[in-house]
Amino acid sequence: MTYQYWNEKFETMSRPELASYQLVQLKKMIGYSLRTPFYAARLKAVGISSPDDIKALSDLKRIPFTTKNDLRSGFPYGFLSINRDDVIRLHASSGTTGIPTTIYFSRDDIKNWTSFVARCIYGTGCNKTDVFQNMITYGLFTGGLGFHAGGEEVGMLVIPSGSGNTTRQFRLMQDFGTTVVHATPSFLLHVEAKMKEEGINRDSLKLKRAFAGAEPYSEDTRRRIEELLNIDVFNSYGLSEMNGPGVAFECQCKNGLHLWEDGYIAEIVNPDTLEPVPDGETGELVLTILCREATPILRYRTRDLTAFYTEPCACGRTHRRIHRITGRSDDMLIINGVNLFPSQIEEVIMAIKEVGNNYLIVVEKEGVLDRLTVKVEVRPDIFMDDSRPLNAIKEKIRKTLQASITINPRVELHESGALPVSEGKAVRVQDSRPKDV
Ligand code: ADP
Ligand code: ZN
Repeated sequence: MTYQYWNEKFETMSRPELASYQLVQLKKMIGYSLRTPFYAARLKAVGISSPDDIKALSDLKRIPFTTKNDLRSGFPYGFLSINRDDVIRLHASSGTTGIPTTIYFSRDDIKNWTSFVARCIYGTGCNKTDVFQNMITYGLFTGGLGFHAGGEEVGMLVIPSGSGNTTRQFRLMQDFGTTVVHATPSFLLHVEAKMKEEGINRDSLKLKRAFAGAEPYSEDTRRRIEELLNIDVFNSYGLSEMNGPGVAFECQCKNGLHLWEDGYIAEIVNPDTLEPVPDGETGELVLTILCREATPILRYRTRDLTAFYTEPCACGRTHRRIHRITGRSDDMLIINGVNLFPSQIEEVIMAIKEVGNNYLIVVEKEGVLDRLTVKVEVRPDIFMDDSRPLNAIKEKIRKTLQASITINPRVELHESGALPVSEGKAVRVQDSRPKDV
């Protein structure tokens, strides 16, 4: 296979060169950070009062971690490190776990961010002949404008369709010959189900690729989307604290996501001890941005769980790869004392062929015990009025789940399209148990 690079010099830079580049950028970021009251206090407390106090990349370890709550404490302008007049845009996180955090961009920051997103898009094999339908929420959420700008930078024809309204999405795909889409994986599954329902022939579309991200999904879900839509699906990872999309992305090898180390310094730590984990082991991703002057963020605890790959990638890029994110450390459910990540359930059910494209995990209190119910849509070709095969499917799902998660769940089957679909990130868990008891 021949691989195409958007910025060959940086994408294939030797590791020592990359490290020297990181050091230069880190010193710049320290300079900007010292202009914010939060970092000025934090950095001075550990003896850093000028960029020159950073002599090597290992000095980063002297700096305490930054959490989402730290960022919230500075709302709205506490983390702004340049003159307000030089800011041209702001974005905010989706607020999945509480009050959103705000990020500011200078003109150069937007340029840098855009070139990282363009690098990701181009690296999957896209070019200016492509028609790109950006089926994700626009607005404060970074996925809309971030991908939009990256797509334009590559020179593709960009359709800012936004999320939702599948009928209109199909019309756009047909009218303009869309070849590549960006969406959440849950929305892509919904699109596929709707396509069947509306009798749209896959072969009438020119779709070749999809970028899927913003929420966790399993390898089986990727394979399912690829098979059902007959496209290549590339995993896209980012977060607004680190600009948004364009932090880590799969190349054509589709085996782990290259994390762009000329834009971000990545560490993976044990979430309890905060010590680095050995390469290859799972822990929490910690990121330091190197490419944004308006809002520098140092050693940000993402809560996202992943691991580094240890071998280099066949594509020739030198930037380390991370495994697909299995979830956030705060997504973990404790059910009658057993720890469970929603992704473990997805991994099991998406590999069962009778299972349709949507599911919901419900946790309730029943007396003193926790009760786990997994609501699962079945494939549209399975008839809901024939109870015998349904009972067999239900039993199969229950047994397979129990074998894997060691909890005996209740399984409910639903017709295709019956469970709620979110326009933004999918809501996979309904936990009605009283908090903190
Ligand atoms: P919020 O933190 O409020 O959800 P963001 O919009 O910044 O706001 O979302 C970033 C988060 O989305 C990441 O920290 C991660 O948890 C999740 N995420 C983004 N892309 C992926 C992906 N490809 N796989 C798994 N999770 C992802
Ligand atoms: Zn690669």
